[in-house]
Amino acid sequence: MTITEELTALRKLRAKLLGNADTNDPLFLPDTNPSTLTRINDGTYDWTKLPRWVNSIPVTAYHLRQRKTIIERLCEEHYHDQDATAIGLDMLECSKTYPCGSPFCPFCRHKVQEKRSATALAKFAATAKSEMTFLTILHPVTYDPFYDAQAHIDYLRDSVRNALNFRGLSQVRMLGAFEIDVKRRQEAANDRSKRVLTALEMDITSQKPAYLVHLHSLVDLGGIPREEVRSAFTGVFDKPYQVRLTHLHRDKGKDESIERLARYMSKFRVQFADNLYGKERGMKVQYRELYPAPLMREYVKLIHSIKVDNGFKGFRFKIN
Ligand SMILES: [Zn+2]
Repeated sequence: MTITEELTALRKLRAKLLGNADTNDPLFLPDTNPSTLTRINDGTYDWTKLPRWVNSIPVTAYHLRQRKTIIERLCEEHYHDQDATAIGLDMLECSKTYPCGSPFCPFCRHKVQEKRSATALAKFAATAKSEMTFLTILHPVTYDPFYDAQAHIDYLRDSVRNALNFRGLSQVRMLGAFEIDVKRRQEAANDRSKRVLTALEMDITSQKPAYLVHLHSLVDLGGIPREEVRSAFTGVFDKPYQVRLTHLHRDKGKDESIERLARYMSKFRVQFADNLYGKERGMKVQYRELYPAPLMREYVKLIHSIKVDNGFKGFRFKIN
């Protein structure tokens, strides 16, 4: 591409992105029709126009409202944050034929959740419910996620594998996913969360958001006593509350429980929550508000930065 061609391409992109651009900008091209981005930002975008995929998955008004808020927050700083803006616009344009592939798009996430739960059902088809367990391992938090998150994922991945190899537990099979939560002081409000987050090195006196990388996994114990598997992990992950093994849902059949947990592992929520281990008996998870706009943009870019497939594949975990 010559410099002139490159400049023309850049002008076109700018014109598309910045319907209301600063006219002193040397790259400004007047746009007679307000661009989609302008309409999103000045509130005139017609959100009653439904996404193109709307009839291909079960979708609720809640999902549509959440999609609108995420897109608006991603596009809000379009002049300074073109990466977030591009993700938002792609999500807006997502269709069955050209899926945007974002974990935050209700359609693309649903497709992945369906696939994951089918894979999990097939993988554990021959395993008795009593031989299965749900594992969560939490990594200490970071305040510098763009630097640390990938390393924390890699560390968890390698250490889980090593812990099993070290004890010779080659029968254990796992299928799981990494997740990143954001915690603020408010999420450390109850005593239990306070203890857990402090053990995970969160500074609960600070307002700075802490990023918590963790792994959820379905586990086939392969005949090994649950306590032996637990001890293999607590031997490596030795901070209090760092490892947790729970039974599959007691009140549900094996397949339904597996399906639910497989979906839960790929939820990619953009919402504060005070729980650390999912829904527990007698303890209802308290979900709070969606991430505010600046955090939303950082978080979405972070997830998209995790290696392949906008994060979807980079978050996968599997043993045997
Ligand atoms: Zn999509």
